Amino acid sequence: MKVMAQMAMVMNLDKCIGCHTCSVTCKQAWTNRTGVEYVWFNNVETRPGVGYPRGYEDQEKWGGGWVRTKRGRLKLRSGGRFTKLAHIFSNPRLPEIHDYYEPWTYEYDTLLSAPQGEHTPVARPMSLLTGKAMQIHWSANWDDNLGGSMETMQDDPVLKQMSESVTAELEQAFMFYLPRICEHCLNPSCVASCPSGAMYKRAEDGIVLVDQDQCRGWRMCVSGCPYKKVYFNHKTGKAEKCTMCYPRLEVGLPTVCSETCVGRLRYLGLVLYDADRVLEAASVEDPTELLAAQRSVLLDPHDPEVIAGAEREGIPRDWIDAAQRSPIWSLISTYEVALPLHPEYRTMPMVWYIPPLSPVVDVVTGSGNDGEDARTLFAAIDRLRIPVEYLAGLFTAGETAPVTAVLQRLAAMRAHMRNVNLGTDQDPRIAESVGMTAAQ
Ligand code: SF4
Ligand code: SF4
Repeated sequence: MKVMAQMAMVMNLDKCIGCHTCSVTCKQAWTNRTGVEYVWFNNVETRPGVGYPRGYEDQEKWGGGWVRTKRGRLKLRSGGRFTKLAHIFSNPRLPEIHDYYEPWTYEYDTLLSAPQGEHTPVARPMSLLTGKAMQIHWSANWDDNLGGSMETMQDDPVLKQMSESVTAELEQAFMFYLPRICEHCLNPSCVASCPSGAMYKRAEDGIVLVDQDQCRGWRMCVSGCPYKKVYFNHKTGKAEKCTMCYPRLEVGLPTVCSETCVGRLRYLGLVLYDADRVLEAASVEDPTELLAAQRSVLLDPHDPEVIAGAEREGIPRDWIDAAQRSPIWSLISTYEVALPLHPEYRTMPMVWYIPPLSPVVDVVTGSGNDGEDARTLFAAIDRLRIPVEYLAGLFTAGETAPVTAVLQRLAAMRAHMRNVNLGTDQDPRIAESVGMTAAQ
């Protein structure tokens, strides 16, 4: 066992309101510069939706992450460090600006200098790349528009006549927000793809960085990252990415996105892991075992054997203490409510997510009740508005059982805490299922 430390994050998706405060404050801190106008180290995407850059989860098209060979080895899907160097200028696996979005600002002068008139002046969007007025056809969260469908239908006499089946379909539409940063993976395919040795994973805390002096702008890391979280700076000709705000962490401050998150949904902390088991866990073949294997690489920071291993590797005592205090291990391994994003990419991501609970569909459509009765939720977890299959596609390589288990646990905890707060009778079965006695 080789114990190493890793900075990790858990995000509770039930709390994200899609306000983009995290994205904007991150941009102000890190990418408010020429050459990276289109870059959001932190983005918040609408789900279901195509994400940023558009369709990045289509690994066949973009070629990121690892694939398992018949012999059980891992191979870069993008083809490795050298195979495509000859094609670098026509690499079809590099997203183009329209796959991200064309960044724009507004011609504020139009507002400030417009003469008084009958109509309110409108600021027109202006491309940050060309400086010319532009039509916006696509940008982040365009997928949100479905959220307005019901309103439109109620106001429009023609749409009102649409068949009941369509209405029912819209009533069952769902969406939620998925904030994303670089996953600071334990097995980062961006690092393995870099022909210049410019990308590296810091030994002390696992943060993945780009050495700007070493980077030669090959962009193999961009195609190599399955989450598309490395970006090319068109001014400097170098790759850039989320740094997990390491200059802030080093002086004891949280990342900008964690500190400014309005929903307080980002848990940030150290975990200890077994570096000797990373490759074995990343190459597990059976999707039903992938999640458990990836979970098992994280080590219990209270285990005396792990503590001794950490001390042997020179991990400072206060870091071990920090790992013990951090909620990350508990959320992932003790309570098993946090799940990794796309474990099937086999990079061993270190930003995990607590999936969102949602109302039970027949409660919503039948009675107008919003399904807040947590006991109903607990009992009807297979009929939630956000289909378990959809969440499984994001977090468990399509396996529904672990997602159902997480949602049931969350619903049980909600039911339990509601009863505690209301001072009403607690259901001992529910208390038991979240590991508490009814008295607690
Ligand atoms: Fe590298 Fe981050 Fe992509 Fe993982 S998510 S492969 S660490 S850029
Ligand atoms: Fe979600 Fe927090 Fe970002 Fe707002 S600041 S979009 S609540 S993650």
